Amino acid sequence: MNIHHPLDAASYYFKDTLVSYLDRRCHRENIIIHVETREDSGLHIGNLTTFVAAFALAAVLKQRFGRNVRVRFVYTPASGDECTIGGVRYQRHALPNGVHEVNPSPFMRVVRRISEFFGIPFDTATQSLWRDNPEFSDVLQAIVAKLKSCSLTSRLVIRAPCPQCGLMDKRGTHSCFDDDGHISFDCPRHGQYAAHLHDPREWHRLNFNAPFRNLLRVILCSRDKNNSWILCAGAHYGGFYQDQLMWRFLDNPDNAPPIFYSPLIVDSSGGRLSESLFRDQDPYDFHFDFGLEYMISVFRFLGRHGGLEALCREVHAWMEEPHRLFRNYSMQYIDTQLRRRGMTALQR
Ligand SMILES: [Zn+2]
Repeated sequence: MNIHHPLDAASYYFKDTLVSYLDRRCHRENIIIHVETREDSGLHIGNLTTFVAAFALAAVLKQRFGRNVRVRFVYTPASGDECTIGGVRYQRHALPNGVHEVNPSPFMRVVRRISEFFGIPFDTATQSLWRDNPEFSDVLQAIVAKLKSCSLTSRLVIRAPCPQCGLMDKRGTHSCFDDDGHISFDCPRHGQYAAHLHDPREWHRLNFNAPFRNLLRVILCSRDKNNSWILCAGAHYGGFYQDQLMWRFLDNPDNAPPIFYSPLIVDSSGGRLSESLFRDQDPYDFHFDFGLEYMISVFRFLGRHGGLEALCREVHAWMEEPHRLFRNYSMQYIDTQLRRRGMTALQR
């Protein structure tokens, strides 16, 4: 197969030097590569590739630059059921943190194998990692103060479940901030309730949407005196999302941790594999005709002898040739590469 990697934008400037650039951006002795994952998320070739990329990057930083690196998975709460009442979107309070710890298969099993392949340690944390940070209160209040002066309040959302029924206003439609740190919320069944940003006993009740969590995390990591951080995410989190919902809010962008974007694995239409789409709507039937069903089911993938190791070798090769990191790959291409790198041929 003749494959081209057109050079443009970031790939032009970092095509050979990406990893050494990241090494220079990490000034502390220890490096933590952060990966966020929903604790009830299924595994498929898309998010697996992002996880493998985090370990592969860590391995190159360790081997080539002698850095002390680990990967940290930080769980976000499972997403609860949603409903619409009076035109407002509500979400039921999600499961408590730690589902992967209670039911570690297959996530932990897969991550341990990737960790062993690359010789890189990992750990896991819940959102309390950020709440327990001594800078949390200061950063939270600074973000809220900044949001009140702009038009993006509706996109960076703090919410809290109703103490009686667990419903929470997903988009913060009826949430109101007072100058003294009170936030009032509205339950369609039980009326108003409140939380206070200054009270640490209430922080565990607060729930932040993805852009808010992202902003909190970036600022907290930028203030860490002991560790350098690299945030690893799928490439769909790049571009307009970060430009509008994160970078523009930073007072000191130079201090922010670099974000490393893993290539997406896309279907034949160019769309990213989405776990919620194939769980709820099953739109990938046509891939069964091509023998690619193992890519959307971790159990089928693990059934292929050598599949996970082949993926590790493929992603590691991207680190050796960083121009290959600034693009996405089709499921068909990845299938070819996995077979070439030792995955057992598909059984039909
Ligand atoms: Zn309620």
